[in-house]
Amino acid sequence: MSHPLVIVVTMKTETCRHIPIEVAGIEIISCDDCGDVAWYRSGEWLDPAEGMAELFGQYDLVGRLDSLSAPAPEVLLYRPPNRKWRSHLEAFPKHVWLEVAPDLWLSHDEEHLLLAPANPIHLENLTRGA
Ligand SMILES: [Zn+2]
Repeated sequence: MSHPLVIVVTMKTETCRHIPIEVAGIEIISCDDCGDVAWYRSGEWLDPAEGMAELFGQYDLVGRLDSLSAPAPEVLLYRPPNRKWRSHLEAFPKHVWLEVAPDLWLSHDEEHLLLAPANPIHLENLTRGA
């Protein structure tokens, strides 16, 4: 599962180009055309769960919403603690649901992080202690 970043950069389909965006030392490819999401650090494959924790671990859970258009029964709403952390959202296209980790869908509106866990176990882990 380890791909040198150089291969990823040149990988494309007829309709989309996959250009990594770097935030907080992590390179992320997130494509709203084909829905592909990939995580790398220093050109090495990165565990999506680890990447999510590094980018959004300090976010505060501020609400739970009904599904909206999400591919999961419930949506968790998070707020970044400050401007620096908010900038991590820029790694992803806004107003689009992307599967950023297995069974975990992400969207954002530039102010809030929206997570939709398709697997109930994820929901339990994410909301534990909240
Ligand atoms: Zn694509």
